[in-house]
Amino acid sequence: MCTAGVHGNEPAGGRALLRIMADFSSQTLSRGRVLALTGNMQALALKERYQVKDLNRIWSQERANRLRKDPKSAAFPEEVEMAALLPILHHAMDQTSGKVFLLDLHSTSGLGAPFACCMEVTHHRQFMESLSIPMILGLRPRMQGTLMDYIASFGHGAIGVEGGQNDDPDTVDCHEACIRVAIGAIGMTDSSSDPKQEEARALLVQRSKGLPRYLEINHRYAVEEDDQFVMTPGFRNFSSVDAGQILAHDRHGPIRAKESGIILFPRYQAEGADGFFLARPTTL
Ligand SMILES: [Zn+2]
Repeated sequence: MCTAGVHGNEPAGGRALLRIMADFSSQTLSRGRVLALTGNMQALALKERYQVKDLNRIWSQERANRLRKDPKSAAFPEEVEMAALLPILHHAMDQTSGKVFLLDLHSTSGLGAPFACCMEVTHHRQFMESLSIPMILGLRPRMQGTLMDYIASFGHGAIGVEGGQNDDPDTVDCHEACIRVAIGAIGMTDSSSDPKQEEARALLVQRSKGLPRYLEINHRYAVEEDDQFVMTPGFRNFSSVDAGQILAHDRHGPIRAKESGIILFPRYQAEGADGFFLARPTTL
């Protein structure tokens, strides 16, 4: 399953999926099916990250159970979107005799190389290791209510892909490459049924050159509403920062790096509760 546009200001994943779906027919897949889903359709139309609540922070089991039982109980636009997605996601999970793998396609407001995220390292290691882009491990304690966590809670594989900057055309290429490589890694295609697969793999290797293969998050800067948080210009995903360096400002003054590290998700957009993350290289 590929989901795109769970954040409405991130159109690149959907564009990549349209390209892939035009290329793949049932004849090119040796097994399985690819399901392409749009996330926050209303926010995508508005080109906004979300309307009322972040659609990638509300996937609790309680809310999902309520919306599955009573879709009409949806109280705000993102719950309406979630209520529409739930039966499709569960149908796919119920129908399969094997495993479902979710690739949730995102992009970032800051520039920089692509990377992937997973909630925890579990049984779908082969899927995780396939992408050849830096992988952020163990995001669960730092980010709750994500779609990938919800899918993973049923024992399926789930990876989030941050393909690059939101409106950069390169981001679409990167998402397309990730989808092709992931589909190959779980045995649905090979290089004879998808001639573009090798090229896709090479693109991901080239984009990730010189970057750590695995990283763990050691700090998340939480932004409160009305903080007037403004990221200092010039940071990209994977920029190195030194302890004490000014990373942003808000109404209380400068915000400095608590420790040295690698910056991820510097927030150059108006919305969102994550100001930035600091990470360090790790091993699997
Ligand atoms: Zn996103």
